[in-house]
Amino acid sequence: MSKEKIALVGNPNVGKSTVFNNLTGMHQRTGNWTGKTVEVAEGKFTHNNNEYTIIDLPGTYSLRARSAEEEVTRDYILQNPDCKIIVVCDACAIERNLNLLLQVMEINKNVLVCVNLLDEAQKKGISIDLKKLSSILDSQVVGCSATSGKGIDEIKENIKNIHPSGYKTEYAHVKTEDEKIEKRLQVAEKIAKEVVSKDKNTKKKKEGIDRFLTGKYLAFPTMLIFLSLLLFITITFANYPSQLLSSIFTKGEEHLYNFMLSIKIPLVICDFVCLGVVRVVCWITSVMLPPMAIFFPLFTLLEDWGYLPRIAFNLDKPFCKCGSCGKQALTMCMGIGCNAVGVTGCRIIDSPKERKIAILTNALVPCNGRFPTLIMILTVFFAGAGALSSLKGATLLTIILVCSVLFTFFISYILSKILKGEKSTFILELPPYRKPQIAKTLVRSVFDRTIFVLLRALCVAVPCGAIIFLLSNIVIGNTSLLIHISDFIDPFGRIFGMDGIIILAFILGLPANEIVIPIALMAYTSKSAMTDISDMNLIGDILIQNGWGVSTAICVLVFTLFHSPCLTTLLTIKKETGSIKYTLLSAIIPTVLGLTLCFTINLICKII
Ligand code: GDP
Repeated sequence: MSKEKIALVGNPNVGKSTVFNNLTGMHQRTGNWTGKTVEVAEGKFTHNNNEYTIIDLPGTYSLRARSAEEEVTRDYILQNPDCKIIVVCDACAIERNLNLLLQVMEINKNVLVCVNLLDEAQKKGISIDLKKLSSILDSQVVGCSATSGKGIDEIKENIKNIHPSGYKTEYAHVKTEDEKIEKRLQVAEKIAKEVVSKDKNTKKKKEGIDRFLTGKYLAFPTMLIFLSLLLFITITFANYPSQLLSSIFTKGEEHLYNFMLSIKIPLVICDFVCLGVVRVVCWITSVMLPPMAIFFPLFTLLEDWGYLPRIAFNLDKPFCKCGSCGKQALTMCMGIGCNAVGVTGCRIIDSPKERKIAILTNALVPCNGRFPTLIMILTVFFAGAGALSSLKGATLLTIILVCSVLFTFFISYILSKILKGEKSTFILELPPYRKPQIAKTLVRSVFDRTIFVLLRALCVAVPCGAIIFLLSNIVIGNTSLLIHISDFIDPFGRIFGMDGIIILAFILGLPANEIVIPIALMAYTSKSAMTDISDMNLIGDILIQNGWGVSTAICVLVFTLFHSPCLTTLLTIKKETGSIKYTLLSAIIPTVLGLTLCFTINLICKII
């Protein structure tokens, strides 16, 4: 069996990941926006007894090594002069894609051209003469509609026969780089003219919907409506499965407890396992899983459809005014899912200064782990029960998210004045709207995101549950260690409108934000055993009995919004920036902001 390495190259958003997934059977995330693949993915497949390793290089417009994506792709091609390359092109924009293809061929002529998105081109009345293209370039050319898997087999068939093209890059001898660029553009235009024909009868469909989604007056209201709707659906439909899971878990925990007792396991271990570890795990699963399982797929559908780049487009101006760039809107949106993902996503920002700003401010938007806390406090103290509670909750949560975006602008502005560096020259490109692949999206967002985030939270929950149980069961002089510590920090908490237990919960919750409220509730109820954890009224009673008022709720809301990102995110920031200074700053900035706001709110509430 022979083994070969094949590199996959292409402009962003041409369906490279889709081709990669189809070839390798892997599930790399695809999404309808530019600059998603920054990490190099690798996958294998065998065909006719040959093993091929496919290297999915970052999507890039050129090989001029001006951005991280371009550099990675260019370096790979330069360092592997013998490797075969599949260049994926967008049939709807063949001229622009040929420009990259020509650059690749200047370095390595072992190319197979995959003209993808033929279905989309057909709808637009564009047809490509693949045979002619193949003969001009003296390379194999395969037509593809990757989402439906069309053309993938043909690629597999043709890979073996990729041969050095005899195509002469006519402009190879020009003197300056600028001349070369100019010439290359002319050649790309010439080839495109020869192979592309447009059906004049096909009406050019104006993407009128963009007037709503990115128009001057309607863009912002539409964004708010989309956001509220997303949150409304999440809040409304997460409640029932949450309650169901919680009651199932409570029963399960009871059975486990009785079973452990029946096989003569010492009481203290039964307590430790069931009331300590299992209870926290069940809490997190029942509180977190339903909203995530609803929010992530909806969010991914919007992303696939092409709405996310429109958000970046709409926010480009405000972000530019704050000394940053529109791509930060994308990383911010990714942060709503998970801050660690958002921070990694910041690689799509070319300018190091803007990338740092985006990383340092990413945790200012609440990640999914903070949502349950926000929703719970909003429901208990502000939205109330009844028919309109979900709507009220969603509206309030939208307002909270808008506030977090405004603070992101504010802090970005301050950082842009302090940090040094160049502005990026990136021009945002709006991809076409594409029909999301609903089934695939659902499966992908459940496995890639929901289960991933849940497992991560659970990994943290198990040791946390154990530590909290120990802290609340090690008694010194009639009082548990947990209460001793929270009593000690209580005066500090009071300055900021909270109490010792809340602050301790935030500290213990550093590994994962999801467990802040469970820890607080456990500490508050350390004397009595808590049974129904999904009952908002019960939670409300516990909090009120422990001195929570509206001002406490507001302060906790604000501090939930603005405090240090979780440990995973901090580790990601350290990995991405390679700097302890920036890692510490990314923890300090939101925490100081949160504490300052809480202090002020507390002061105002006291005066009132
Ligand atoms: P990449 O950025 O080049 O890796 O592109 P992706 O593979 O993430 O694809 C971008 C978007 O185009 C996704 O929404 C895909 O579902 C969609 N897509 C990919 N290939 C095709 C195709 O052949 N036809 C159509 N209609 N959509 C496609």
